[in-house]
Amino acid sequence: MNSNILKQLPQNSYTLVRRIGEAADAQGVSVYLAGGVVRDLFLKRDNLDLDFVVEGDAIAFARKAAGILKAPIKVYKDFGTATIVLTDGRALDFATAREETYAAPGRLPEVRRGSIHEDLFRRDFTVNAMGLWINQSRWAQVVDPFGGLKDLRAKTIRVLHETSFEDDATRILRAIRFEQRFGFRIEPQTLKLLKRRLARRSGDHVSAQRFFNEFKKILMEEKVLPALKRMKQLRAEKLLHPDFVLNLKVLKTVQSRFDSVKKKYDLSNDHRWKVFLMALLEGQREETIAAFLKPLSLTAHDCKSFAQANSAIDFLSKLCKNSLSPSGVYGVLKPLAPEQCIYLLCRTSRAQVLRRLDRFLKKDQFVTLAIDGNDVRALGATGAKIGEVLKKTLDCKIDTGLKSKQQEFNFVRGLLS
Ligand code: ATP
Repeated sequence: MNSNILKQLPQNSYTLVRRIGEAADAQGVSVYLAGGVVRDLFLKRDNLDLDFVVEGDAIAFARKAAGILKAPIKVYKDFGTATIVLTDGRALDFATAREETYAAPGRLPEVRRGSIHEDLFRRDFTVNAMGLWINQSRWAQVVDPFGGLKDLRAKTIRVLHETSFEDDATRILRAIRFEQRFGFRIEPQTLKLLKRRLARRSGDHVSAQRFFNEFKKILMEEKVLPALKRMKQLRAEKLLHPDFVLNLKVLKTVQSRFDSVKKKYDLSNDHRWKVFLMALLEGQREETIAAFLKPLSLTAHDCKSFAQANSAIDFLSKLCKNSLSPSGVYGVLKPLAPEQCIYLLCRTSRAQVLRRLDRFLKKDQFVTLAIDGNDVRALGATGAKIGEVLKKTLDCKIDTGLKSKQQEFNFVRGLLS
């Protein structure tokens, strides 16, 4: 039944996996595809991430494989992993099969080299704890020690053991994400363990950043609203911050507009989680937003735009004023991060505001002057007056279009006369 399972890979991935299997034979090591890609093969879903587990030294094996594929390799010695990056952008990840033990719940685990079974046992759910052997003699043989296939058929998310959520509470967010993505159910005993872990806040050693990384993945899910509703129902948002309140009203509106905005402005995927997070932060208490953001490693730029989530309504009401000129719009929007402007586009349906945002994003934000402070000084201005004149000239250029450097000079002369 399973001998054809790997045939479902796109042809170029299939050929690659074959060649890596041959290399495994030549090196005398057992190599497996494992985790999400195996789950998705059985679910007949596309998954471009090829994750290999090597029973032996993954780095040494990946170096050989990279030589055969004539592709560059990145080695992460501390983790015993390596990535081969192909010219078409695909990445092949190799990890040494390892056994993990948790000295204390929530702490980072102690890691030792292990077998494929031990490697699968450290994983989150049965459906993610399957391997496919790729050595030629065992081609496509399934390694499924915990009943992952059975749970896939039963559409069930099940942890591998009783202390799974104690070991790593980020799995709570993962359980919700996979449940909603696949339309599965978290099975009753797993749900009980999950709730028990949620009820207990003390002794938590998982960093805010790790919870946040998993939360970001939820925000990137196609079915983001069902996943957030499930989080809310289970009160799992408390994992992000004890005072975090999941208010989905704003997000619903923002999400309904996001795809068309993304298409129109050719946005990258990264905008999605940022814009959705702004929607979720809007309405939180200022102290909660600050405390939520503080432990996260965000760029200063992202931090500032998230911290201003509650100002969106103010910005929108400024943009509603009938008398606002294009330079007035520029004054409101220029200090904002690009993601904030995208957020405002998703946050309003007022045609006039949308037009103003559009003009700023497509045209006015790029307007610069041909003259500079030295030119203004040469025409007689001094001190703070120079900045004032430059600003007025820029405003005039935005509103009426000064078409040449000469016209800018003439405008400044007029101001100073
Ligand atoms: P996706 O399709 O969202 O990428 P994935 O299953 O590939 O899903 P990853 O986060 O890329 O998810 O993780 C790859 C594999 O690593 C998982 O399938 C799972 O086996 C294992 N894994 C990831 N995070 C954990 C965790 N917190 N605890 C245990 N195992 C994990």
